[in-house]
Amino acid sequence: MEAVADVSAQQTTPYDYEAPASRRLFERAEAVIPGGVNSPVRAFRAVGGTPRFIAEANGAYLTDADGRRYVDLVCSWGPMVLGHAHPAVVEAVTKAAAKGTSFGAPTEAEVELAEEIVARTPAEQVRLVNSGTEATMSALRLARGATGRRLIVKFAGCYHGHVDALLAAAGSGVATLALPDTPGVTGAQASETIVLPYNDIAAVEQTFAEAGDQIAAVITEAAAGNMGVIAPRDGFNGKLREITTKHGALLVMDEVMTGFRVSRSGWYGLDPVTPDLVTYAKVMGGGLPAAAFGGRADIMAKLAPAGPVYQAGTLSGNPLATAAGIATLRECTDQTYAYLDRTSETLRGLVTKALTAAGVPHRVSNAGNMFGVFFTTADVRDYESAKLTDTAAYRAFFHSMLASGVYLPPSAYECWFVSTALGATELEIIEKALPAAAEAAGAAV
Ligand SMILES: *Cc1c(COP(=O)(O)O)cnc(C)c1O
Repeated sequence: MEAVADVSAQQTTPYDYEAPASRRLFERAEAVIPGGVNSPVRAFRAVGGTPRFIAEANGAYLTDADGRRYVDLVCSWGPMVLGHAHPAVVEAVTKAAAKGTSFGAPTEAEVELAEEIVARTPAEQVRLVNSGTEATMSALRLARGATGRRLIVKFAGCYHGHVDALLAAAGSGVATLALPDTPGVTGAQASETIVLPYNDIAAVEQTFAEAGDQIAAVITEAAAGNMGVIAPRDGFNGKLREITTKHGALLVMDEVMTGFRVSRSGWYGLDPVTPDLVTYAKVMGGGLPAAAFGGRADIMAKLAPAGPVYQAGTLSGNPLATAAGIATLRECTDQTYAYLDRTSETLRGLVTKALTAAGVPHRVSNAGNMFGVFFTTADVRDYESAKLTDTAAYRAFFHSMLASGVYLPPSAYECWFVSTALGATELEIIEKALPAAAEAAGAAV
């Protein structure tokens, strides 16, 4: 979420229908919160109109401040894999809250959550943190600490949280040291990040040939979900594994979005490339702030207090967050993923059918059960080609769906997420909404 592409796409459009309570709240928010939101994409700037303020959510539905209900295909940007207010999660959090909300001392629940993650994933050990950003930031510090090297390789269009050194997104070609992508990040921070095109293994090879002995780590989204959804191609992750191993660099797999979302473990379950370090958040917190980074035990042993690389957190392993995470993961069985996969496939079919019928150029792109729509017929394989999507078409599509009671991500570059709460009734609501949205998109192309 919050891909860099969204922040720049500022549009004002007359879409403020039927949301007076949200509009009033947004005006109040703008007075006291920059841009009225606590995370940029929520402000609807990429699609225009008033962001819906959510009053409550249950199962597959969000209810906004005006009392309108929407079938939710954002799922809090991924975490709500079981839908909202799932009884098992609510019960776990309620029970935990009654026993105290934070101790600043270790708990059994932290051990249980860590054991659950280690049992499901390639990580031998994990450290719990509070957000995906913290997880990737800490993983990279550890990678540098463990290798004694300076440079990080990332891929254009991959989002790893708002870590300073990773907000360098737009390098211009092989081995070009990146310029910062936002004020506040210094050239020095950005200059330690090399940005390469996603899915371009030749660019990675060339970069390693030139600077391999200075590269601490390659970080990649296990499957890209923050420039629209783009799966790794032609064994891309496996080749990253080979190249990093050969040059003594670490491979950091960012599974913040894919982890426990596309399989019991994450993308690893579909494409079992073993990284040195891996990051998780979103689903593993069940809607509360919980995240983790982990990996090889010998590398994790370099982390304080076992080793010299410092990392800490007052609320890390928080009892409410661990309770929500454990309850969520325990509900996520193989049947859960089979259901999510089927639901995603059905939805992709419905979207394809509607857009095809309306003659709208498009590609429905998926990575496991995560998916999205590019409004282009170009072969989308990296950030450059992702940017060919017609954002005006998406805006029209989005607002038509919203008016029909379906909540899609308010940006053309975000993933759509399914949950186990989506059933036949909700699929029917979506199916009925699609033809008008497809027509609207067609008219806007
Ligand atoms: C969401 C996301 C992050 C950042 O996580 P936060 O909890 O928002 O800080 C990092 N990496 C990926 C791949 C993400 O999708």
